[in-house]
Parts: sequence; C-alpha cells; structure tokens
Amino acid sequence: MPELPEVETVKETLKNRILNEKIVAVDVFYENIIDESSRNDFKELLIGESIRDILRYGKYLIFIFDNVSLISHLRMEGKYFIKDKKELRNVHEHIVFTFESGNTLRYHDTRKFGTMKLVKSTVFDEIMNEPELKKLGPEANSLIDEKWFYEKITKMKVKLKPALLDQTLIAGLGNIYVDEVCFLSGLHPEYPCKNLTLYDVKNILENAKFVLAGAIKAGGTTIRSYTSSLGVTGRFQLKLHVHTKAFEPCENCGEMIKKIVVGGRGTYLCECCQRLNKPLVVGITGGIGMGKSTVSNYLISKGYQVIDTDVISKEVSNMNEFLESVKIVFGSDFVVDGKLDRKKMGDLVFNDQEANKKLTSLIHPIIKKKVIDSINKSKEKIVFVDVPLLYESGFDELCHYAICVYSDKEINVERLKQRDHLSMDEIDSRINSQMDIEIKKQKAHFIIDNSKDLCYTYKQVDEVVHKLQEMRK
Ligand SMILES: [Zn+2]
Repeated sequence: MPELPEVETVKETLKNRILNEKIVAVDVFYENIIDESSRNDFKELLIGESIRDILRYGKYLIFIFDNVSLISHLRMEGKYFIKDKKELRNVHEHIVFTFESGNTLRYHDTRKFGTMKLVKSTVFDEIMNEPELKKLGPEANSLIDEKWFYEKITKMKVKLKPALLDQTLIAGLGNIYVDEVCFLSGLHPEYPCKNLTLYDVKNILENAKFVLAGAIKAGGTTIRSYTSSLGVTGRFQLKLHVHTKAFEPCENCGEMIKKIVVGGRGTYLCECCQRLNKPLVVGITGGIGMGKSTVSNYLISKGYQVIDTDVISKEVSNMNEFLESVKIVFGSDFVVDGKLDRKKMGDLVFNDQEANKKLTSLIHPIIKKKVIDSINKSKEKIVFVDVPLLYESGFDELCHYAICVYSDKEINVERLKQRDHLSMDEIDSRINSQMDIEIKKQKAHFIIDNSKDLCYTYKQVDEVVHKLQEMRK
C-alpha cells in the first residue's frame, strides 16, 4: 500500500514527466473509481485541460489543471504509468488520459479501491475544503504543535497504532511507518494513548518527521505490491528497523523482533524496547526546604521507587564529560581535584540567572537521559521522580502526574535557617531563583501541605498514593 513517501515519489516523478501535458482524450474502463459527483462531466471537464501542477496532501495526489483539479487516492494498489498511446492497454488500466504529445497517463489498479474526484477550482485552500481533505489531520512530516497533539491524542480511547493510522488525527502515516515510529519512540503499538506523556508525544512527532524524511529521500519503500510504476525504485526497505524483520535480532537489545496483529494490521515490534507495561511516572517537586525530601523518604520507607535527581546530579557532576564542559564554560577554577566545587558553583548560580541557565544546559540532558533509563528499566507500577526544578527544567514532560510539596513561608524560612544555616539574604536569593511556589501549586495535580507535623504530611501522601494506585489499575 503506497504511503506518504511513495505518493510523494509518484508526485515528484509525474511532475518531472507530464507537467504541462494537454489532455485530448479520456477513456474510462471502470467508472466506479470516479466519484459519483464527477462521473457525468469527467471527460468533458478534462479534455482540453493542461496539467499545471501536481500537489500532495497526506496520501492524496492533487492534479491542478487550468480550470479544474483532480483529487486522486491510490488506496491499496493504485499506480500511475506513463506509456506511449500505441502501447496496448493492460487489463488493470482503468482510466487512460491521452495527451496531445502522444503520451498517455494510465491509472492501474488491480483491486479497484482507488478514487478520483474532480473539483471545479484550482485554488489549494478551496480544494482542501472538500470533505475527504478537510477531515485530514496535519501532515505527519509538517511542524505540528506538540502540546495541541498531546491534548488530542491522550483523549483518544484507543491503542497507539490505530491512533497514528487515523488520518483525521495525523495524515500520511501508514502501516510501515507507524511500526517504525513506535519502535524509534520506544512505545508499544498497543500502548494506551491516554497514558502517553508529553515526552512520548514529542518523540512520536520527531520520529514521524525523521522516518518520513528518510523515506522520501530514498524514494519510498518497496514492499510487496508497491513497485514504483514510474521507474523509481524505493530503497527505504534497507533502512527499516522492525517492519518485516520478524525473527531478526533487535538492533538495540538483540531480542528477537516479533510480529503481532494490532487492529487487524500485521505489526512488528521489539517487546523488550517497546514495553507495554510501563510505570506511571509521578514527579515530586516543591520550593527549596519545603519538604520534598520528607515526602520522598516517606515513599521510599513505604517501598516505593523514587528516582532522586539530586543523587543523579551528584553522580553526573563527577563525570569527566561534564567536568570538561564546566572548565570550558565557567573556567578551570570550578573544578578542584577532579571534582566540581559545589559551594563555588552554588554561590554563582543562585545569584546569576545566566550562569544558572548555562549550568542547566550542561547537566540536565545527562540527568534526563539517566532518569529515562531508570523509568524504562523499572518493573514497578508507579515510579516517583524527585525533581527540585520539575517545571523549570522540563522534567514534567516525562511525568503523568506531579505532586507539589509546600509549606508556609515563615515555616519554610525557619527550617532553611536551621537546616542550611543560611542568612536571610541567602535564603531570599535561593527562593527567588526558583519558580514561584504558587505557580508550581497551580501546575501540579496533587498538593501536599507540609506546614504542620509529619503525621499530617504522611496522611496526605497516603491519600495521593491511594488515588494513583486507583488510576494505575
Ligand atoms: Zn529491542
């Protein structure tokens, strides 16, 4: 079945071969391919017209003539051939356009599922108003607003693969490329859409663009029935990671690639890299000294997995790769005896926003990768991630839910004085360097008030955990 890259290849090839050809005859051998609305005046409207442009939207080809346009969908087996008019007609060539030059464009379709429809306009926006085009979602290889897509797909009560095949959600992804996108995004084709995180969605969109760009560049994929009708041989099959690779080892982990059926479609995946049972990821954040660690420690004592980004940050800060970049960006005096001078760096970044941003851009990508690895390896149903700067650093996109721990300002200041022995100025600059706690509270799904005694805090944590467990069922 031709997919977006194949249709793009057909479009480009046709543009090279038949642009400005003038139609002098139209022969229709199987009328049902033509939409009912266009059957009566199909020949009449096309004879005398020249092809001025050929466009594509999703898997639709759009031929623009002088006064009309033709919307063509190849469906399962549709192909176009360009032949001399003297060549005998193949039995599967159902519609033949003869040009003034003596060339013919022949629509060939063994299963007769393809469609053609004439539109009495040559203006793209007007053509796009036709129902079959209007209902299509944004093209998978275009720039799609990630948050808009996230809101849309997570409301769908279906599995991931059927959603990505749904052309009204996203246009142009077919069976082959959806398998590839799911693999590259580390997502099981049967993963429930409602459980996707913003991070998953960003990966899906990025990989869709990457896969389609590669396939278009290679001239489409040649599998089974799709053989390029116009002398172009697709080479993308050489670059497929999972599709048609059943019983071959996964290039990531070496496990055997499996073939399953999802929504009636043959589907290839690595069950090790594309786990179906991924944990629910819950971020824990809060203001400095407000009790985030109290909550994390309580969860650990209850047997829950808590990924502590402060611990990971300390590990990363001793990594050579990181220290070398610190020397380059901040100067070699920030590294003492092969270790980061944390006090010196802390003093700098709490008072200097630019420096803070630079440090973040060095360390966060490494921490994020480690957190993602831990989540992917986790066998738990719920994983908590303790991140002081959950929103500021964009870690919230990894999480399904977020908990914000806070305490009243006076209590917070008192605790900071006692815990960290900081002066009032130091406390102010540390608090001011972070996102306002009120904004964090608004963004979070759960709020825990840590202004009173521990029992009160723990009771709230128990309630949140209970709700999360209910959601995970
Ligand atoms: Zn694998």
